[in-house]
Amino acid sequence: MLRSAAPHTISVKDKRFAVSVPASRIGQEVRRVAGEIDRDYAGREPLFLAVLNGAFMFAADLLRLLSVPCRLSFVKLRSYRGLESRGEVSQLIGLGESIEGRDVIVVEDIVDTGLTMSRLLEGLRQMGPASLSVCTLLLKPGKLLHSVDISYCALRVPDDFVVGYGLDYEGLGRNYADIYSIIKE
Ligand code: 5GP
Repeated sequence: MLRSAAPHTISVKDKRFAVSVPASRIGQEVRRVAGEIDRDYAGREPLFLAVLNGAFMFAADLLRLLSVPCRLSFVKLRSYRGLESRGEVSQLIGLGESIEGRDVIVVEDIVDTGLTMSRLLEGLRQMGPASLSVCTLLLKPGKLLHSVDISYCALRVPDDFVVGYGLDYEGLGRNYADIYSIIKE
């Protein structure tokens, strides 16, 4: 299938973005991560929990490159304001099967401060998986505030806001094959 060359800059709602990671580079790094998982999980049957919506494209590309037998479930984090706490609380929804005794790999689009992932891991750990690891498409090392053990990371990116390859800005921009960084104007 012919794909026209990616535009160097795009507009999403009221913001402009410039290509920061082209699709070819994303493909290389996803392939590398798939190779690492195949090696580490040989002889096992991991269960991938892909976090919607952002990780849908990454999960689809990653899983089609894997050889190890595996299962896939999509989960979602619903944020709400706790009635008694002033902080934001995330509730895991969509997990329709038991993860007890399973080798679980969480597939996420981006780890920024690490708060979302550390809360998610805390909740999953209480469900008794045999092992629990994290596979993220993107990591912003400069913004990490919460310690999260990340076993697999496709790309490290600068602190700027990004869209594309599953990631959105106000619901738009997920469809681009490349990753774009915001242009500060
Ligand atoms: P954290 O809890 O690690 O600070 O944030 C994680 C979540 O924030 C991600 O799952 C994602 O939804 C959102 N996020 C953080 N940085 C970006 C970004 O640069 N672009 C987009 N589209 N979402 C981001």
